[in-house]
Amino acid sequence: MADCIFCKIANKEIPSSVVYEDEQVIAFKDLEPQAPVHVLVIPKRHIESVAALTADDKALAGHILCEVIPQIAKEQNLDKKGFRVVANTGDEGGQTVKHLHFHVLGGRSMQWPPG
Ligand code: AMP
Ligand code: ZN
Repeated sequence: MADCIFCKIANKEIPSSVVYEDEQVIAFKDLEPQAPVHVLVIPKRHIESVAALTADDKALAGHILCEVIPQIAKEQNLDKKGFRVVANTGDEGGQTVKHLHFHVLGGRSMQWPPG
Protein backbone atom coordinates (compact mmCIF):
# COMPACT_ATOMS: atom_id res chain seq x y z
CA MET A 1 0.00 0.00 0.00
CA ALA A 2 1.39 3.39 -1.00
CA ASP A 3 2.54 5.59 1.86
CA CYS A 4 2.56 2.76 4.38
CA ILE A 5 5.87 2.73 6.24
CA PHE A 6 5.63 -0.97 7.11
CA CYS A 7 4.85 -1.94 3.50
CA LYS A 8 8.00 -0.02 2.59
CA ILE A 9 9.99 -1.94 5.22
CA ALA A 10 8.54 -5.23 3.92
CA ASN A 11 9.55 -4.24 0.36
CA LYS A 12 13.01 -3.11 1.54
CA GLU A 13 12.32 0.40 0.28
CA ILE A 14 13.39 1.69 3.66
CA PRO A 15 15.97 -0.03 5.86
CA SER A 16 15.27 -1.90 9.06
CA SER A 17 17.12 -4.22 11.38
CA VAL A 18 15.62 -7.56 10.34
CA VAL A 19 15.61 -10.42 12.86
CA TYR A 20 13.33 -12.86 10.97
CA GLU A 21 11.97 -13.16 7.44
CA ASP A 22 10.06 -15.64 5.33
CA GLU A 23 7.72 -15.40 2.32
CA GLN A 24 4.81 -13.97 4.29
CA VAL A 25 6.29 -12.33 7.35
CA ILE A 26 9.10 -10.00 8.35
CA ALA A 27 10.23 -9.04 11.86
CA PHE A 28 12.51 -6.14 12.69
CA LYS A 29 13.74 -4.14 15.66
CA ASP A 30 11.54 -1.25 16.78
CA LEU A 31 13.14 2.13 16.08
CA GLU A 32 12.24 3.36 19.57
CA PRO A 33 12.63 0.29 21.78
CA GLN A 34 10.51 0.21 24.94
CA ALA A 35 12.39 -2.77 26.39
CA PRO A 36 15.82 -4.42 25.94
CA VAL A 37 14.18 -6.62 23.28
CA HIS A 38 11.52 -4.90 21.16
CA VAL A 39 10.74 -6.58 17.85
CA LEU A 40 7.84 -5.87 15.49
CA VAL A 41 6.37 -8.82 13.60
CA ILE A 42 4.33 -7.94 10.51
CA PRO A 43 2.68 -9.69 7.59
CA LYS A 44 4.29 -8.52 4.33
CA ARG A 45 0.81 -8.11 2.85
CA HIS A 46 -0.94 -4.94 3.98
CA ILE A 47 -3.62 -5.68 6.57
CA GLU A 48 -4.71 -2.68 8.62
CA SER A 49 -5.04 -4.22 12.07
CA VAL A 50 -6.36 -7.15 14.11
CA ALA A 51 -9.82 -5.68 13.51
CA ALA A 52 -9.36 -6.18 9.75
CA LEU A 53 -8.41 -9.87 10.00
CA THR A 54 -10.89 -12.33 8.50
CA ALA A 55 -11.26 -16.09 8.30
CA ASP A 56 -9.14 -15.93 5.12
CA ASP A 57 -6.20 -14.84 7.28
CA LYS A 58 -6.34 -17.82 9.66
CA ALA A 59 -3.28 -19.53 8.23
CA LEU A 60 -1.24 -16.32 8.29
CA ALA A 61 -2.31 -15.39 11.83
CA GLY A 62 -1.64 -18.94 13.00
CA HIS A 63 1.78 -18.88 11.37
CA ILE A 64 2.68 -15.65 13.15
CA LEU A 65 1.37 -16.71 16.57
CA CYS A 66 2.20 -20.41 16.53
CA GLU A 67 5.54 -20.37 14.70
CA VAL A 68 7.17 -16.99 14.12
CA ILE A 69 6.70 -15.35 17.52
CA PRO A 70 7.73 -18.46 19.52
CA GLN A 71 10.83 -18.83 17.33
CA ILE A 72 11.79 -15.18 17.79
CA ALA A 73 11.20 -15.48 21.56
CA LYS A 74 13.54 -18.44 21.67
CA GLU A 75 16.22 -16.76 19.56
CA GLN A 76 16.04 -13.62 21.74
CA ASN A 77 16.24 -15.75 24.92
CA LEU A 78 12.83 -14.64 26.12
CA ASP A 79 11.02 -17.97 26.16
CA LYS A 80 12.08 -19.04 29.66
CA LYS A 81 11.77 -15.72 31.51
CA GLY A 82 8.68 -14.50 29.67
CA PHE A 83 7.78 -11.70 27.36
CA ARG A 84 4.81 -9.69 26.15
CA VAL A 85 3.03 -9.70 22.79
CA VAL A 86 0.99 -6.58 22.02
CA ALA A 87 -1.16 -5.67 19.04
CA ASN A 88 -2.34 -2.11 19.50
CA THR A 89 -5.53 -1.85 17.45
CA GLY A 90 -7.19 1.32 16.25
CA ASP A 91 -6.99 4.81 17.68
CA GLU A 92 -8.10 4.02 21.23
CA GLY A 93 -5.86 0.96 21.16
CA GLY A 94 -2.91 3.25 20.59
CA GLN A 95 -2.12 2.06 17.06
CA THR A 96 -0.01 4.65 15.27
CA VAL A 97 1.05 2.64 12.21
CA LYS A 98 -1.99 1.28 10.38
CA HIS A 99 -0.36 -1.94 9.18
CA LEU A 100 -0.93 -4.98 11.42
CA HIS A 101 2.01 -5.56 13.74
CA PHE A 102 2.73 -7.54 16.87
CA HIS A 103 5.14 -6.01 19.36
CA VAL A 104 7.34 -8.62 21.05
CA LEU A 105 8.75 -7.04 24.20
CA GLY A 106 11.07 -8.60 26.71
CA GLY A 107 14.24 -8.45 28.75
CA ARG A 108 12.63 -6.63 31.68
CA SER A 109 9.65 -7.04 33.98
CA MET A 110 6.43 -5.74 32.47
CA GLN A 111 3.80 -3.77 34.38
CA TRP A 112 0.04 -4.19 34.33
CA PRO A 113 -2.30 -2.49 33.56
CA PRO A 114 -0.79 -0.81 30.50
CA GLY A 115 -1.24 2.93 30.15
P1 AMP B 1 2.00 1.23 17.32
O1 AMP B 1 2.06 2.50 18.11
O2 AMP B 1 1.50 0.04 18.07
O3 AMP B 1 1.29 1.44 16.00
O4 AMP B 1 3.51 0.84 17.00
C1 AMP B 1 4.23 1.40 15.95
C2 AMP B 1 5.69 1.16 16.27
O5 AMP B 1 6.43 1.30 15.09
C3 AMP B 1 6.28 2.11 17.31
O6 AMP B 1 6.77 1.37 18.41
C4 AMP B 1 7.40 2.80 16.53
O7 AMP B 1 8.54 3.04 17.33
C5 AMP B 1 7.69 1.80 15.43
N1 AMP B 1 8.26 2.34 14.20
C6 AMP B 1 7.81 3.37 13.48
N2 AMP B 1 8.58 3.55 12.38
C7 AMP B 1 9.52 2.57 12.42
C8 AMP B 1 10.61 2.21 11.57
N3 AMP B 1 10.88 2.88 10.45
N4 AMP B 1 11.39 1.16 11.93
C9 AMP B 1 11.12 0.48 13.07
N5 AMP B 1 10.11 0.75 13.91
C10 AMP B 1 9.33 1.81 13.59
ZN1 ZN C 1 1.25 -1.55 4.89
